Parts: sequence; C-alpha cells; structure tokens
Amino acid sequence: MREVFEARRWDGAARVGTLSVPRAGVTVETPALMPVVNPNLQTVSPSALETEFGAQVLITNAYIIHGDDELRETALDRGLHDMLDFGGAIVTDSGSFQLAEYGEIDVTTEEILRFQRDIGSDVGTPVDLPTPPDADRDRAETDLETTQERLALAESADTGEMLVNAPIQGSTHLDLRESAARHAYGTDLDVFPIGAVVPLLNEYRFADMVRVVDAAKRGLGADAPVHLFGAGHPMMFALAAAAGCDLFDSAAYALYARDDRYLTVRGTRHLDDLTELPCPCPICTTHDPDELRSLPGRERGDLLARHNLHVSFAELRRIREAIRAGTLLELVEERARAHPTMLDGYRALLDGADRLEGDDPATKGTFFHLSTESARRPEVRRHHERLDRLVPPEELVLTDGSRPSDRPAWRILPPFGPVPPELAETYPLTAEVSDRRDDPTLVAAADGIARLAAVHDVDLTVVHDGWPSHALDRLPDDVTTIDRSTDDDPMETDGDDEPIETAGDAEGIDG
Ligand SMILES: [Zn+2]
Repeated sequence: MREVFEARRWDGAARVGTLSVPRAGVTVETPALMPVVNPNLQTVSPSALETEFGAQVLITNAYIIHGDDELRETALDRGLHDMLDFGGAIVTDSGSFQLAEYGEIDVTTEEILRFQRDIGSDVGTPVDLPTPPDADRDRAETDLETTQERLALAESADTGEMLVNAPIQGSTHLDLRESAARHAYGTDLDVFPIGAVVPLLNEYRFADMVRVVDAAKRGLGADAPVHLFGAGHPMMFALAAAAGCDLFDSAAYALYARDDRYLTVRGTRHLDDLTELPCPCPICTTHDPDELRSLPGRERGDLLARHNLHVSFAELRRIREAIRAGTLLELVEERARAHPTMLDGYRALLDGADRLEGDDPATKGTFFHLSTESARRPEVRRHHERLDRLVPPEELVLTDGSRPSDRPAWRILPPFGPVPPELAETYPLTAEVSDRRDDPTLVAAADGIARLAAVHDVDLTVVHDGWPSHALDRLPDDVTTIDRSTDDDPMETDGDDEPIETAGDAEGIDG
C-alpha cells in the first residue's frame, strides 16, 4: 500500500481522497487544483492563491528556477516556500516540457532531482520524455524506455522526504499507456502524472483523453494518486475526475487571462463578446465588461486571472461535493452538453463502464436519467447482473403500463428493464426518468429483459407501448410481445387493471 494517498469516498472511478505531503506537513484534499506559478511572472501571488482561493498545493518549474542565476541562488538560500511565500505543498516540474519543446535541456535527471530536493520541493519530477499524441509506435516505445530509465534513476536517488512523480507516457497507444502505468506503479515512486495530454485537450479530443486516462488507470492500483498533467480548463475537470484523475494543474487561468479570455465551466468567452459577467465571483460582481476593457492590460489580466481561478476552484469544490453525494456522472452529463466533443468524451467514459462499476458504490441517492447516455451508466449494467440472482415466477408479464389483475407482473423501467417488486424501492430503481423514452433507453431495457430470459426458465410476455423494432429485436424469439398502443385490450382482462406504483410516482420530483 502507498501511504501517501487515501481514497475516502468513491463515485464510479472518481474519488475524494487525501494526499499526504510529508515534507510540507500538509494534507491535500483531492481532486485538487494546482495553480501553475511562473517563478518569473506571478500573475496572482502564491500567498493570495493560498488565502483568497484556498489553494493547498501549487506547481512551479524547477528547471526555470535552476536556469536563472538569481532565482537559483534565492531558492537554494531561502528555500522554495519562503521564496514563493506559500505554506501549502509545492510540486515542481523538471524541464520535461522544455525538453519536448526544444529538443534538449542542460540538466540530467540526477541533477534536477537533487536541485528539487535542495530547494525544498515537496513533490519532485524526473526528466521524463513526453511523447505527443499520434506518435508512431516505434518512437513511443523508444521514448518510453528512456522515461523508464529516468524513473529508475529517480528510485535510486536520495530524495529524502520529497515525494517523487512517476510520469506515465505512451502517446495515444493505449496498451503502452497501460504497461507504462503498470511499470510506474511497480516503482516506489509516489504520484502518477499522465503526461503529454495537452495537445489532445488543445484539440478538444476529449474522447482520446478519456481513453488515455482509462488505459493508464488500468495499470495503476486504487492507492495511486493520478495527476492529469496540463489539464487546466474547468470545462473538463468533471469528466477527468470521473475518469479517475485526482490532481489538475492550471496555467490556463493566467494564459487565457493574458488574451482577454474568460473561463466558464461551459467553455471560453472572449471579453470583447461579453455584455455582462455571468458569474458570482468577487471580480464579476464588482466589475462590468466595459470597466474591465478600459483597464490597462496588466491590471485587466490580473482581474481576469482571478475570475478564472474562482471559476476553476469552484468547479473543484462542486466536483468533490458531487462525488460525496454520488452524483458526479450527472454533473459530467451537464458539462458534456457544453460542446459536442465533451459529449464524445462522456461516451468514451461510458465505454469503460466496466471499470467505473468496479468502484461504484451500490447505493446512493436518486439516479437521474438525464439523457440518452444515461442508459449506458454502470447502474444499468449492474441491475442487469442483479437479475441473474432473482427467482422470477414461471409465468411472468412484464409491462411498461398497467398490470393485469390475474397474473404475476413486473414493471418495466427503461433503461433498467424488469423491476422485481422487492427491488422497486431501492437504488437505482427509484430513478427519476423522463417520460420521453429515446431508443437507447428502450434498447437498454430490452437488454435487461433478454438477460432475464437467458438466465431463468421463465415464460415471458412483454406488454409495451409502441417500442421500436430495434428494441424488440433484442428479445429472444420465445418471448411474447404485445403492443398496447395498437391493441385495445392486450391482456384480455376485465378492464380493472391497477397501475403499478413506483417510488418515483409516490415521491414526486423532490423525492
Ligand atoms: Zn467571475
């Protein structure tokens, strides 16, 4: 067991946890946002990050400090915490980014790790080799070998109490990401950044981002804290947290502000396009866009950066609360509506529902069926599996409407499928579902019925309200189907059918 990280609450693959940082003597609550602090240009001072925004951890670049005579001497002399005036945990990067950008850097892994230790970094980083997305396999493998040699150097280095990152590379080759993660997890290093995803995020390739994270997570144990390196836009924090990421770093708050870009959880707006500031943060409630536009560049950038930070930290608080309440996927669905590529990302997340389900607590609040994608959530799959353990009557009517008075009947609740009466009041079958049932929802319900038919020896009659043929086609041939939208008296009863009560009917929308 790694002792630095403890997951306390789970929601799917997401978790609220604690990262204990021994050198700083602080415990960081995750998922956490680490603002990027440029040692040469502090848009918002680290002490303000701590006191105004509640930052428990920040990230800065040891390579830049090392390369600047004055900064290097100050950091060695006074230590990083004193130099930056920050009491929380400080993570340092090593120059890998510069290496990827410019092809070479002038320090070795041993040198930069020693330097990070000497200046008082709390989490140091070896010089790994970031391989961009879509690199050919030979290059990705060769780069990965180098990264793994650097991890070995980091393992044998004397790093004292400093935690050490074990970056995971492998480009967009998912098997390489998985084996890289397994290898990194096998070292005695502490924190696991998933590297070189920034180009994916810049190109809005959120589905690829999710696949890369998913692959890496398969190689890591549950006690591995995962940092999605370079992911700083609040729009995608919920998605990445749902995929199992625990740490985010944001340079975006400052970089975007410099270009007059205003971050929101639904995307980016340009200051020139805003008539009002649609945000309750202290900056937006005390300024209007005209005022901001009239300010000198530096001052304007400072205020926009503060807004950008407020939005980002608020989203992290919202995510942690959603995980505690078991409603993170609903937040992800909401965020996924902001951009078609975010929806692709959410769909990719649901493709990995097997893994999501492994960690998902079986009981939580109310399942909200919000969209087509809800039909693919882990709860639906788990309900289908639960049907295997039930004992249905030999003859059974399944109906999405009224119940015949003379025969055993179970209700059909799309997207779950058959609902045995004994489970009707339990999560997730107390779901709030929309009356408009789209095709994927009915197909999922039909799959539940097919599973019941496959596992049990039961004579099934399905009474449905005009289900489309591609849903009905999922049912085995020996299931009798009756379309009650075209048949006046489908069950040939005497007309005193009773409605099947559900918790949803009884409790209403606030239940
Ligand atoms: Zn604001």
